Amino acid sequence: MKAPRLLAFAVLAGGMTAAALAQPPQQPQDEDFSRLVKEWTTMPEFLSPLVDHLPKAAGVPSPKDILGYYPGMPKKLTRVADLNRYYRALAAASKRVKILPAGSTDEGRECLVTVVADEDTIRNLDTYKGYLARLADPRGLSDVEAHRIIGLAKPVYMFTGGLHSAETGPPEMLMELAYRLAVDESPLYEGIRRNVIVMVVNALDPDGRDRYVDWYYRHKISEETEADRLAGPPYWGKYIYHDNNRDINYSQVTMRNWLKFYLDWHPPIMHDLHESEPFMYTFSGQAPQNPTLDPILYGELPWFSNFEMTKMMSYGMPGVWTHAFVDMWSPGYLGFMSSNHNGMLRMYETFGNGGANTMKRTVDAPAGGGEAPGGGSMTTREWYRPIPPYKEVVWSQRNNTNYMETGVLSALELTSNFAKTVLENFYTKSRNSVESGGKDAPFGYVLPAGQRDMTRVEFIVNILRLQGVEVGRSTAEIKLKDETFPAGSLVVKRNQPYGRLAKILLEKQQFPDANLRTYDDTGWTMGLMSQADVREIGDRALLDVPVEPVDTMHVNGEVKGSGMWTAVLHNGANSLSTLRYRLKDLTYDATAQPYKAGDIELPAGSLLLPSSARVKGEIEKLGLQAVGLRQLPDVPKRPARLPRLAVYTTWGSTQDVGWVRYALDHFEFAYDLIYQERVRKGALRDAYDVIVIPSQGRTSKSLVFDIESKGKPLAYTKTPEFPTMGMYGESEDITGGMGLEGVVELEKFVKSGGVLITLGAASFFPAEFGITRTVEAARTSAQFYAPGPIVEAEIQQPSNPIFYGYTAKVVPVRYANGPLLRVPTEDRSKWVLMQFPGTDRSVLSGLMKGVAEIRGRPAVADVPVGQGHVILFATNPCYRWQNLGEFNMLANAILYSGGGRP
Ligand SMILES: [Zn+2]
Repeated sequence: MKAPRLLAFAVLAGGMTAAALAQPPQQPQDEDFSRLVKEWTTMPEFLSPLVDHLPKAAGVPSPKDILGYYPGMPKKLTRVADLNRYYRALAAASKRVKILPAGSTDEGRECLVTVVADEDTIRNLDTYKGYLARLADPRGLSDVEAHRIIGLAKPVYMFTGGLHSAETGPPEMLMELAYRLAVDESPLYEGIRRNVIVMVVNALDPDGRDRYVDWYYRHKISEETEADRLAGPPYWGKYIYHDNNRDINYSQVTMRNWLKFYLDWHPPIMHDLHESEPFMYTFSGQAPQNPTLDPILYGELPWFSNFEMTKMMSYGMPGVWTHAFVDMWSPGYLGFMSSNHNGMLRMYETFGNGGANTMKRTVDAPAGGGEAPGGGSMTTREWYRPIPPYKEVVWSQRNNTNYMETGVLSALELTSNFAKTVLENFYTKSRNSVESGGKDAPFGYVLPAGQRDMTRVEFIVNILRLQGVEVGRSTAEIKLKDETFPAGSLVVKRNQPYGRLAKILLEKQQFPDANLRTYDDTGWTMGLMSQADVREIGDRALLDVPVEPVDTMHVNGEVKGSGMWTAVLHNGANSLSTLRYRLKDLTYDATAQPYKAGDIELPAGSLLLPSSARVKGEIEKLGLQAVGLRQLPDVPKRPARLPRLAVYTTWGSTQDVGWVRYALDHFEFAYDLIYQERVRKGALRDAYDVIVIPSQGRTSKSLVFDIESKGKPLAYTKTPEFPTMGMYGESEDITGGMGLEGVVELEKFVKSGGVLITLGAASFFPAEFGITRTVEAARTSAQFYAPGPIVEAEIQQPSNPIFYGYTAKVVPVRYANGPLLRVPTEDRSKWVLMQFPGTDRSVLSGLMKGVAEIRGRPAVADVPVGQGHVILFATNPCYRWQNLGEFNMLANAILYSGGGRP
């Protein structure tokens, strides 16, 4: 059915309400839908005139026509294959819909984007794509030409949901939204289709979606009250959980797919749908705000959120609020790919039950675990929360769908009415980024050629390239006012569309106000995190330095000279570990002290390998530096054997373990992932030389006792009905933890010569459970506040193998809020390997309030226990694929301490 387009526009301009706009008298309606939605919505005020009805269109299937149920139905969740089946059926039936594949996940599921717009737009989608690409990089574009393009272009508004698998509502709602946008002939939808290109994703984490839906149907569908609510599945995606929204370096395959899609299409608006806060929070980008991003963005965010709140107040929907939640400081959230690239990040939190069951909920306490910077109760009336959520509510999945869908339709109404403003802003932000880089210092960054370990430079450059930042290689020596850099140095100039992003990632973070709290990390400076040399340049001449563009950087390793032996220098490259695993069939030694003879200098920890074409080939591939030797150097040596390695994980807190697994897999370590079952079985020393306990849980008690049993076993096993269960580990009952029997077995392991390595919060465990009896582990005071700053740590025992590859005495580390360790005074000089200076000057990036509390505390301690030892890291040397300069300490601890004390 074709609506009278011009008339519809006239009506819209005439100021009808959206409710009236959404009610076409002629179109047939789905009566069953209207009846059931009223039934599933727990109070009349939780429904709006935008979503209380569903139009029918001949030949175009609704989700019910394909799946057999309406989105938001109690006890129904949709798996990815079915989401895709619906979107494909919709696209097959409607010329207003098109499917764009966006790659596949770790487990082989499709990432899918469904586009909805009017027929003409869908037919010419590539033309519109081209307009956005031109506005995204306006270099060489005159203002007149830019405005001609804006006149022709349409904004893409991209909705994303299902990033957090326990937040089950958004992927359901998005199917219904796509259907409505495709078939509803009322003026509101006509306008949206004409003025906006809407995109929806199937699920941002398709692997996690399926695992969570399996888990829901297996365990959670019988929950009736809040008290019944069980833990979620041990895994969402392959490695990480909730941190898929903190993957600042896009390590995960799925997140890379979305970034690639984003940079291909340049949506000026990206809107990420989450669940937690009652009843709906719409993000307005409150303080602290990153000042490098364009001020326009900080106008746009409350513009949209206030509009949505206004509309939803007009429908009488309680509990819609803005302002007092997530801030605009860290650029590491997935949706920030939009604002980092001159677009607009939007975000909701709607209230959800962690599944599709209807139940009574208590909403008095802050649902975000008290992390909301606004703090306090969610149910008080505030200036940003004119009708607060109820203190108690019976909540259903359909309520969740109603709120979210009413919100996003309001956002689309605004976008449709101000499409040109959105495009104009997008263009202006892009242009401002280029211009600001040409007139405001810093003008860019130089990563000098010739650093000891260029693989870290390669890491930084390739992450920047992945993010669309242009990087060049200087074709000649760079001569600036105060500094000179060799030819071949890597140059990031700021006068480019993503120059602001380059600055945000490479600069030191100056947190604007120590009294403000933030939702996530305060520091992420890539050069410090990688311990690579990155120079900020204040000399404008950098912009004129001739460079050739770098697509992807690859460091070629090199063997200088020749001989029977090849010495691979331990220069701190993480790929040195990879080499050892690739050559695991060879027997060889490492140097135990630095060695110098003539022009040959070998740092301690260098590998002494028999020369061969294979060895040379691997060294070259891995970007390592080596020298050929005619004979073995006369220097103390140690056998470079690979330890039998295990990584211990709880069932209830697998995420930080996931980051360690990801890094170990990336660098090709061999290890067993062991759970409570294996630890309780005992005889650990027979099987392993080294056990790593990554940071997990908040306390050592939670590490030991893990998920509390609710009386019946909680199985994570693969069955024909639930094929995603039992992946990465399998258990008939994931509750209970290793328990005290497990502690005893770990102690036996150490006493009989094993090496236990604990990271971050896990380092409370050996101290508090008495494995390292004389070590105390204290906590910081309530006044102390350090959300992930980068601080200095002083190496106390530079000759300890853990520091092979480090040359400086003071190194930057990410502060991990691990234990404040104390070792007996008489043992300090032997056991403390690294410590925190704990002065204001030692905070390098981000915020640490109360720095004196960590003064002189051990950052790493190595404590002998029986025939073995425990290495306690108060830091977390393997944090979210970020602090790769620290990872080498963990690698050395694993590779050089195994099989008894070195
Ligand atoms: Zn979330």
